[in-house]
Amino acid sequence: MIFSDKITALAAQAEKELSGIYRDIDELSFFNTSRIMDAFSEYRVSSTMFDGTSGYGYDDRGRETLDLIWARVFGAEAAFVRHGIVNGTQALTIGLFGLLRPGDLMCSVAGKPYDTLEEVIGISGERGNGSLADFGVGYRQIELNSDGTLDFEAIGSLLRYEKDKNKPVKVIFVQRSKGYLNRRTLTVEEIGKLAGFVKSISPETYVVVDNCYGEFTEKCEPSALGADMVIGSLIKNPGGGMAECGGYIAGSARAVELASYRLTSVGCGLEVGATLGQNKNLYKGLFYAPHTTAQALKTAHFAAYMFGALGYNVSPLWNEKRSDIIQTVITGSPELLCAFCRGIQKGSPVDSYVTPEPWAMPGYNDQVIMAAGAFTQGSSIELSADGPLREPYTVYFQGGLTYESGKIGIMSAAEAVLKG
Ligand SMILES: *Cc1c(COP(=O)(O)O)cnc(C)c1O
Repeated sequence: MIFSDKITALAAQAEKELSGIYRDIDELSFFNTSRIMDAFSEYRVSSTMFDGTSGYGYDDRGRETLDLIWARVFGAEAAFVRHGIVNGTQALTIGLFGLLRPGDLMCSVAGKPYDTLEEVIGISGERGNGSLADFGVGYRQIELNSDGTLDFEAIGSLLRYEKDKNKPVKVIFVQRSKGYLNRRTLTVEEIGKLAGFVKSISPETYVVVDNCYGEFTEKCEPSALGADMVIGSLIKNPGGGMAECGGYIAGSARAVELASYRLTSVGCGLEVGATLGQNKNLYKGLFYAPHTTAQALKTAHFAAYMFGALGYNVSPLWNEKRSDIIQTVITGSPELLCAFCRGIQKGSPVDSYVTPEPWAMPGYNDQVIMAAGAFTQGSSIELSADGPLREPYTVYFQGGLTYESGKIGIMSAAEAVLKG
């Protein structure tokens, strides 16, 4: 791919300024890789664990061992990871339906949850489809403070109010990553503080974290700091670009057990689930995950530098610490949003010849444009960009299986935006 002198020079300047940050990211990747290798060693991972089971999938040592490893790596009492969970939304649905009963209350404390959860909760879409609202689960929402931090005062008073009514809040739900919102991403430390705060007032309350895009961007996960359920997708960070599909839940033993009854059935829980030869991809994915996440982090810093230098409003800034792999650029117009996505598409290893167009995606309220030239459909640990067609036309992008390819994609997007 040939780039203009302007973009080539800017890229060189970016890498010079980012060298210290890239070194820190390499160190983070080393730290998390060594945690994973220690767990592999402790649980004696062997090639026989990659053999798949069929049918009920009883005694699948590969599956059972990976659950233990996942729990260890996530600093959790228990975990499950399954290729059969179709996406992050389903993993979150399993977790929420596992915990919530009719008459219970759930409160989202980082404002509106991710778009696809709205219909699951029942705050949008039709009634009668089996949302949490249809089952009589109440929903509250507490916005973040104007500086993007958690509103502990409001959270505390809700918890106390419901506890005084003898009906403690069942689930405090928090989304770590900004998702499709113009807000700060929460750090693991902040979520840990939330978990401690919630438990100090209302020990019965479960703290559930939408961990999508956050995994391995820090040295530990929210489950290590007291969250009861941490949930994510394998076609994002923890699948390392290797998992073909899947999701996971990690957390406290009882919460994970309750989720397991929703995953399969009450009684069967985690004792069943044929792995059909997918174990190797999931092990390999976890093994790669810190490295792949590091590639995505470097790509995000690079993009923040490039688009910041070109005069766009970016978040986070090029030199800001991250707790997820999402980078946003406010393009300001539908034309530039689409140009950006076309540039990313053109700089992708697969389907580089296609032109992305906005469409009404299931589960989303606005039209969305998505650019992805991924080996795995919809994978967003691979370089991908998307944005809902609404003000201020923010493009959200993430991923990059290798820094080199991520850099090419970002340079291509920069060229496309310069041309308009
Ligand atoms: C990706 C994501 C989800 C789940 O989306 P799927 O497309 O169903 O995997 C949920 N929450 C956040 C913050 C996400 O980034």
